[in-house]
This record gives sequence, C-alpha cells and structure tokens, in this order.
Amino acid sequence: MRKQESILGVKFDIVNEDEALEKLVEFVEEGSSLKKVYTPNPEIVMLAQDDKELFRILSEADLVLADGIGVIIASKIRGLELKNRVTGVDTMDRLLKYCGQTGKSIFIFGGKPGIAEIACKNIESQYKGVKIAGYHHGYITDNDQDEIINKINGVKPDVLFVCLGAPKQEKWIDKNKDRLNCSLAMGVGGSVDVYAGVAKRAPIAFQKLGLEWFYRLLKEPWRFKRMLILPKFLIKFIVTK
Ligand code: UDP
Repeated sequence: MRKQESILGVKFDIVNEDEALEKLVEFVEEGSSLKKVYTPNPEIVMLAQDDKELFRILSEADLVLADGIGVIIASKIRGLELKNRVTGVDTMDRLLKYCGQTGKSIFIFGGKPGIAEIACKNIESQYKGVKIAGYHHGYITDNDQDEIINKINGVKPDVLFVCLGAPKQEKWIDKNKDRLNCSLAMGVGGSVDVYAGVAKRAPIAFQKLGLEWFYRLLKEPWRFKRMLILPKFLIKFIVTK
C-alpha cells in the first residue's frame, strides 16, 4: 500500500531518499509497463488547482516526490507525515549510481541543443557503468514528436529522464506513456543543466537549510515573479480545509 499525503489535493508519497530509490529500482527491475515519476514544487501544485489535466496527470503518477521545501513547510504546518524533502536532482544522482552498478541504460530528453550531450558525457565519466542509450534536446515541434519517440524506442533505455521543465515534462510523459518503450520516465526539470555544468546547485549550506530557492533567486533574479507563488501557496493551504 502506498502511503501518501495530500497537499491541496496533490498526493505526495511519504518516502525518504532510500525508500524513493528502492521504489525506482523496483520499477526498473520490474520492467513491465512504463512507470511515471514526478517531483512537483508549490508552483506546480498551484498550477494543478486550475489545470485539470495536470491534476489528473499527477494523480496517475507511480511516485510523486516532494522536491520543494514549500511542500514540506506546508506539511509541517499541519503536522502531516510528509517530512522529508526528496529532490529530483538528488534522486537522479542515486538512480545513476544504481544504473552504474547494474549496467542500466539511460536516455536524456530535454535542455537546449547540445546540453543533453554534454550532460551524458559527464554522467558517463562520473558514474562508471552507466550505459548512455541516447539523448535529444528539448526544443522540438509537434512534427518532431514521432522522430523522438522512435529514437527512444529504438534504443529501449531502462530510464528516461525528461528535462523540459514543469509542467511541460509531465504533460509530455503522459501524452506518450502508451508509446514509450522503457521502464521508467522521470521528470527532472533543470537537472540536465546541472549535469552539463551550465547550472550550479546551491552550496550545501543552502541545501541543508532548505534555502536552495533563495540561492536560485540570487542567481536568477528574474524568477522573483514566479517565486511569489510560494506565499500564495502557503496561504491557500492554510485556509483550505
Ligand atoms: N526546456 C526544454 N524545452 C522546452 C522548455 C524548456 O528542453 O521547451 C528545458 C530548459 O532548457 C531547461 C529545462 O527544460 O534545461 C528546465 O528548465 P527550468 O529550470 O526552467 O525548469 P524547472 O527545473 O524549474 O522545472
């Protein structure tokens, strides 16, 4: 039985980092139908309030990880069980270690042209044993959809990392879930930029204090408007029964 906690109707799995990895390994080893994994932050939870399609997609996921600190703060305010932040990029790191140990293959779809290729090269040298099945940038038109699906299915990766940003990646995975020939598809946003070395993660101190968003704000001040959603999210959560 899945243990989940609802935050404004979006159900998050109550798992710590180890349990999240266990689940992902199970999905890959099972290798049956495609498993869909998302890491929504407060911005996406808020979007899902009005976007019924996104709400449905999140509710049909096989694993929903609480990436954003805002989700954890909300949970703590209500004394709910969801206490562990499990970030997409940390989970990707752990999954890549497992892929390296077991010789599993990955495909990275997303990022600006050239970025996924650099990310894959870095992953190959950083995580010995990981098989790079392929990569493709994320700036495609509707006409390119079949080509990218054929490319992925042609190499049958064990794990497909979709890095189109949210909610584009969640919608893309959902739209193509019946056509994708892989065990696990995970939406991991800007992780491709981190692995390619074009985006830096916040220093450990910021991560530990749950202030990665603040570091990102300092680096990318144009995100300020988007980040105003966090107080709105908390207020809505507090006033909603
Ligand atoms: N991206 C993409 N195709 C698009 C839009 C965005 O591949 O049509 C990529 C973008 O280049 C970046 C990633 O999606 O590498 C995630 O961007 P962002 O950091 O804004 O998303 P977040 O991690 O905040 O969801």
